[in-house]
Amino acid sequence: MNITIQPLIKFTFLALLLLAMSPVVAQKKYVMVIHGGAGTILKANMTPAKELAYREALTQALKTGYEALKAGKSSMDAVEATIHVMEDSPLFNAGKGAVFTHDGKNEMDAAVMDGKTQMAGAVAGVTTIRNPISAARAVMEKSEHVMMVGKGAELFAKEAGLKMVPPSYFYTKDRWDGLQRAIKEDSAKAVLDHGSKKSMLMGVQNKDNKFGTVGAVALDQAGNLAAGTSTGGMTNKKYGRVGDAPIIGAGTYANNETAGISATGWGEFYIRNVVAYDISAMMEYKKMSLQDATAAAIEKVGKMGGDGGLIALDRAGNVAMPFNTAGMYRGTVTENGEIEVLIYK
Ligand code: ASP
Repeated sequence: MNITIQPLIKFTFLALLLLAMSPVVAQKKYVMVIHGGAGTILKANMTPAKELAYREALTQALKTGYEALKAGKSSMDAVEATIHVMEDSPLFNAGKGAVFTHDGKNEMDAAVMDGKTQMAGAVAGVTTIRNPISAARAVMEKSEHVMMVGKGAELFAKEAGLKMVPPSYFYTKDRWDGLQRAIKEDSAKAVLDHGSKKSMLMGVQNKDNKFGTVGAVALDQAGNLAAGTSTGGMTNKKYGRVGDAPIIGAGTYANNETAGISATGWGEFYIRNVVAYDISAMMEYKKMSLQDATAAAIEKVGKMGGDGGLIALDRAGNVAMPFNTAGMYRGTVTENGEIEVLIYK
């Protein structure tokens, strides 16, 4: 008897000790989380070179944000600088590399929100602002408005001294080819009725299930959260279509008392579910954890037929990155500068 019980006691003691220590060991404080879009991102469809390029770009974006935070800059500065890296990279559907509308244009949306002041800014349908995220910030800081669209937003960005570019700057062959494929599928659908009822109602097709929006949420040394999202929207979208990214509370939201959130996915579903604010509300009114609230919100989107994901960060440095697609480009950095980049499930 003694022979079997003694090791068991020892084992139980050790297990309990480890359990008691584990919260201390496992508790990581994250200071930034980013995404580069969700969709049918499968290892099987990825070349090693492409995967490496995405990993490098995401790492570079996280490093940029981390350096800003480490230097004592605000979470808003970190979010803006990080999103610049992704907007300037042709790999993501934001800034250079944005997807095309049905008419062959790049119409971009972006938003930022400050978790401390609850101030927010957004632009939609812009075609000549090199970094739409900065225009969103300018709307927040230099106007008394929250959202500006189209030509007015562009004029405002120019007056604010932002870098303006010709629309051709945003062209990439990859996205152009993507549009041609989508148009082909679209007309086939019109004839053969291959689209789902939902996608026909939306007037937008998401055949290749790929989103490449970018987003970032940061927590600065002063304990303030900020969130930002920037996107070209969805391939083959109709002129003037605005997605969830620039809609405060749908694709972007931040509140120091709850969390900072940036979403990616089929925007219409995120707008109709007011996803980002829904998460904040669950945390505020129901005292739900970040994990539970974000999981509940994504489940709801999924049940309605929408796909995508989101990133969230709370004031304690907890992160959540749920998605209901095959993959989501995403990454985190801790207060010690530990970077992690993930792509698949
Ligand atoms: N949510 C974006 C939109 O609907 C698309 C994306 O996330 O890539 O405009």
